[in-house]
Amino acid sequence: MIHHFDAVILGGGAAGLMCAIEAAKRGRRVAVLERADRLGKKILISGGGRCNFTNIHCTPENFLSSNPHFAKSALSRYTPSDFIGLVEKHHIPYHEKTLGQLFCDRSSRDILNMLEEECRSPAARIFLNVKVQEVTRPADFVVRTQDAEFRAPALVIATGGLSIPKIGATSFGYDLARQFGLRIREPWPGLVPLILSTDDREQYCDLAGVSLGVIASGDSHRFREKMLVTHRGLSGPAILQISSYWKKACAIHLDLAPQKNVTASFKDPSIPRTANALRAAVREDLPTRFADRWLELHMPTSFTNIGLAEFEKDLHDWQIVPAGTEGFEKAEVTAGGVDTDELSAKTMESRTVPGLYFIGEVVDVTGHLGGFNFQWAWASGAATGRAL
Ligand SMILES: Cc1cc2nc3c(=O)[nH]c(=O)nc-3n(C[C@H](O)[C@H](O)[C@H](O)COP(=O)(O)OP(=O)(O)OC[C@H]3O[C@@H](n4cnc5c(N)ncnc54)[C@H](O)[C@@H]3O)c2cc1C
Repeated sequence: MIHHFDAVILGGGAAGLMCAIEAAKRGRRVAVLERADRLGKKILISGGGRCNFTNIHCTPENFLSSNPHFAKSALSRYTPSDFIGLVEKHHIPYHEKTLGQLFCDRSSRDILNMLEEECRSPAARIFLNVKVQEVTRPADFVVRTQDAEFRAPALVIATGGLSIPKIGATSFGYDLARQFGLRIREPWPGLVPLILSTDDREQYCDLAGVSLGVIASGDSHRFREKMLVTHRGLSGPAILQISSYWKKACAIHLDLAPQKNVTASFKDPSIPRTANALRAAVREDLPTRFADRWLELHMPTSFTNIGLAEFEKDLHDWQIVPAGTEGFEKAEVTAGGVDTDELSAKTMESRTVPGLYFIGEVVDVTGHLGGFNFQWAWASGAATGRAL
């Protein structure tokens, strides 16, 4: 069977659905081809089941890309307010959790239901369980599946990145980009827990479950959020954020007591300069188990002013070289992807293959933790949907 559409969208996730909604609004006949047996599986598991659907403080600085300017145009033309407007139109209750992050009060399902309802238009058709076998472009694009052929002058790739293969992530989008001669920035796992070296693991990982407020920094970025010790290393929002910037064999820097002067009380000559007094001081600012372990491993060699200053300095700049990351299996996003130099920042259309578009996570634009990745999916999806 041969289907003719104005555009075929591969992938029924966040970006693909937004693209379909915007295109169908303008009367374009679009087909969304989804490989899975349902739409938006990642939306459903996102934000711990409550979908952190946007961030009210979204700026281009919240994104990594080899071209930091690329995302600006799309982000400015579809803003968090636009998405909040949609959420409010559907009477979905939501709240700000922290740092501008908006979550559903009830469940991520609300967001998926909303997108599905917005897609319910005579102009948009959804096909599930589609196995794409081949994409060619004799004149129009031809997408051959197990039992049909879809033809359209425009093809939108919204198949996401490599994160969480368990729910169906594949390299399809990158392979297709390569097939049409577009460059890829080698993908790497982003927003991912870090694994410590064997030695560090032996020293810290029995503290699994302990969480503390830190500043995690690398060469250029710093994040003040919580860190969590895990059985294999470090996680928590501060670590996930810095993981996207981490390069193999490089150290991350951790300030374990931001804006605190833990040894300040020792300036008072009436305070005894003893291990017990120092333990009491550190326990005031760090969780007890972490404080005790830190002292076991970093007790000052002397309680002189110099010895205490060294101790204070180490506490604010723990340099640790992770052995690796938990990889795509645990990564919330895939950084890297279709090179932005290949695409129009306004429409996401390929500069060399007219009619071919890439949106969402498959593109080399990756958000920080906190609702930014969905905002990119909505914004890039809308940019293409309005251009079809
Ligand atoms: C556990 C987890 C929690 C997250 N929580 C948040 C959060 O709270 N806030 C936030 O901003 N971001 C969050 N993210 C990131 C966010 O989910 C993604 O950045 C976003 O979903 C990307 O949208 P997308 O449409 O580009 O890709 P996806 O949502 O991954 O959609 C791609 C779709 O394409 C389909 N597909 C793949 N290959 C093919 C093919 N060959 N043919 C047809 N269809 C195909 C897939 O089945 C999928 O439905 C989370 C990610 C994970 C893994």
